[in-house]
Amino acid sequence: MKRILENIIENNRKWTKEGELASYIPELTRADKDALGICVTTLDGDEFYAGDYKTKFTIQSVSKVITLMLAILDNGKDYVFSKVGMEPTESAFNSIINLETNTLRKPLNPMINAGAITIVSLLSGENSDDKFNRILKFTRKITGNDSLNINEQVYSSEKATGNRNRALAHFMKSLDIIEGDVEEILDVYFKQCSIEVTCTDIARIGAMLANDGVLPWNNERVISREATRLVKTIMVTCGMYDASGKFAVHIGIPAKSGVGGGIMAAVPRRMGIGVVGPALDEKGNSIGGIKVLEELSRELDLSIF
Ligand code: GLN
Repeated sequence: MKRILENIIENNRKWTKEGELASYIPELTRADKDALGICVTTLDGDEFYAGDYKTKFTIQSVSKVITLMLAILDNGKDYVFSKVGMEPTESAFNSIINLETNTLRKPLNPMINAGAITIVSLLSGENSDDKFNRILKFTRKITGNDSLNINEQVYSSEKATGNRNRALAHFMKSLDIIEGDVEEILDVYFKQCSIEVTCTDIARIGAMLANDGVLPWNNERVISREATRLVKTIMVTCGMYDASGKFAVHIGIPAKSGVGGGIMAAVPRRMGIGVVGPALDEKGNSIGGIKVLEELSRELDLSIF
């Protein structure tokens, strides 16, 4: 396995020259554009790495999977999906127009920003600190990494510049889609996006999902099998934003990307995969990360279809 991963990284290094770092969050331009790394976590808990797998990056939208799981644990799936839809989108992840024009009268799905901000409003907790601490605690549990924390510079940068997310949140407040204090909800959202990880951390989240909700390294169940099925389905249809269809056709693995350059993937009953490559395409997905997953899927026949 290690040899396969090393070959795939070398074959695809050229792609890091394409695309751009996310710059709408200024601090993200400090990422290493040339980095490309992968970690695979099997359902026996074995781990294989290649390339720049030690590169740290902020989790960004991969966190939307984590908060969706937590919201389902807190409220049950029926209540969660009364507040957000489960339909894919052809608009960008931070689209404003889509929120007013879609016929659901709520965010289309929990993987776009409007949906993820709504999900935060559903989480249990006395206040925003309490809510974020629950997210961090759950993230530490499903990565098996007690030292995870936020990158303060990225958090401050996004909080200072996140006016598009503010617009989405205030608009949803005006429609009574979200309840509570808008700035407090956004603060939790900005913090969850700023959790700093490596591809090993996200590979482990993928392995837990691939293993139907049980942590491979200690056999602890953290979420029901039914909930993981739902989450993996939403990852297939919405996880790569408005490129989810193409990704399903070419790669065929439930996955979630983030503008920090990470992609978390869960191959049911086989493995979790974490990749990092901060250079992004115009949809906000890692170019090198997609290429690496494409070759790995072909090589090991990982498509679920
Ligand atoms: N924090 C980012 C934002 O809200 C997350 C988006 C992403 O990773 N696509 O814009």
